[in-house]
Order: sequence, then C-alpha cells, then structure tokens
Amino acid sequence: MEIVLARDMGFCWGVRRAIDIMEKAAADKGEISSLGPIVHNPQVVRDLEGKGVHITSEPPDGVVGPVAITAHGVGPQMLEEARARSTEVVDTTCPIVTRSQRWAKKMAAAGFTVVVFGDPKHREVKGVLAWAGSNAVALGDGDGIPDDLPARLAVISQTTQSPERFALFVSELIQKRLGEINELRVINTLCDATSSQQAASRELAQEVDLMLVVGGRSSANTRHLLEICREEGTPAYQIESAEELRGEWLQGCQRVGVTAGASTPEFAVEAVVRRVKEITQELTGAASAN
Ligand code: SF4
Repeated sequence: MEIVLARDMGFCWGVRRAIDIMEKAAADKGEISSLGPIVHNPQVVRDLEGKGVHITSEPPDGVVGPVAITAHGVGPQMLEEARARSTEVVDTTCPIVTRSQRWAKKMAAAGFTVVVFGDPKHREVKGVLAWAGSNAVALGDGDGIPDDLPARLAVISQTTQSPERFALFVSELIQKRLGEINELRVINTLCDATSSQQAASRELAQEVDLMLVVGGRSSANTRHLLEICREEGTPAYQIESAEELRGEWLQGCQRVGVTAGASTPEFAVEAVVRRVKEITQELTGAASAN
C-alpha cells in the first residue's frame, strides 16, 4: 500500500499567522478571549486553550481582558462591540478576508447590491455581508438565482470557494438574469492558498484508489476538498482524527491519497498516516494467516 500526500495541504499562511498572533498575545497578556473558535478544528482549539486562548461568544459577554478576532473576520458592528466590551482588540483577520470586506463596503457605497457567493451561515460570509450593510445577500451553492435581484450587482465570493463553482455561479446568473441586469461587476475574492490546495487534491484524487480528507467537520474548506475528490469519482472520506479511520475503507486499495483542510494541523495528518500504516499491517497479517 502506497500513501501519497497532496503536494499542497494543511495550515494556510492566514491561519498560521492568526495562531501566531493569538499565541503571542496570550503569552504577553496572560490570557485572551477569541470571538469564536480560531479555526474549525477541535484539536487546534484545545491546544490553544492550554496556551491561554479561550473561546467566547459573539458579542463577547463578561470578558475582562483582550478580545481576539479570528482569521474569518467580523462585521463593523461586532468590531465596535468588541472594542467597547474589552480592554483591547487583537485583530487576526486574514488579509485576504479583509480585502473581500473592503470590496463589499466599496461596492455597496457605490450603489451596487452585493451578492456574496458562499455559505450564508459561515462566519466569514456573515462578516463580509455586514460590511456591505443592508444592500447585500449571500447565495449558497444550490440556492439558485432569485427572481427579484436588483439591476446593479457586484458579485464576490467566499474566499474558500472553488474557482470552478464561482465561475458556474456567475455564468448561471448571467444566463438567467441578463435581461434585467444593467450593470454587473464580478470581483475575484477567491484565496490563492485555497485554490492551490483544491487543485492539488483534485490531481491526487485522479491517481489514487481512495482519498482521506483530514479536517474539522465544520470547516468549509475541508468539506470543499471532500466534494472535489468525489467529483473525480474517487471514493473519499472526511475524518477529524486518526481514530475515525475505518479498516474496510482501505481493503483492496493500492494507493491512498491524503489531503487536509487549511485549518488542519500537521500532527493530525501524521497521525492519520501512522494509522493507515497500522491498519495495512493488520490487514496484511490477517490475509497471510488465512
Ligand atoms: S484559507 Fe486563504 S483566506 Fe482563509 S485564512 Fe487561509 S489564507 Fe486566509
């Protein structure tokens, strides 16, 4: 059995940067409160708790010390609340997300209705929508194109969407609404780090019998990686940790590919690789005993 790792996977620079800033702030100030989990990965959250980074709700309630904003960013009202209710705000918003927020604000101020292609419940999308004010809507994959969109539209994307899906969404919008659209601006707010990881997973999925996608279940970009692998027709499973790996998935496989979401730490991937090797040995041992 050969185990092949995707050429690009795991922590992106935006998440790494956010973790570094939070760890340093917690070390300097004793402890800090993060507005929601820093990444959608329970192992990373536990590790940071041990270093003094505690998770708090949005808006922060009963917080005494500094409050940190995660890489997903927040809207302007939440930022104000965090400033009002804490001694200091440590902002770790990823610069790629900040760019998206700026576009949303700018296009809304210029009179466009901002359409964000992404999961309306995702924290990044909620924050970006809030920067656009009331003249904005989020449309997810499969939501379809509403009939009542205004005539001047600015379309941006959740940073972790795949380029293929964003392109499909824009083309569907044009096909269905061209008659009513006066002006359409499409702004590419996709993240290069995510696109590169998605391309690497797609390539690898074409070359293996099985893909294992390591990452938190509430991580949007990990879920996208899983969908991409399955689009290639390769059996693929998402697991948060090595313990979730099931022996029957590996039966009959010659090559197993492993990839991981942008919020997945290296140690989680290493543990999965170790577990694949152990299970392979168990399967080989059982086969020779028969
Ligand atoms: S995936 Fe991209 S946008 Fe999101 S935190 Fe990482 S670098 Fe930033």
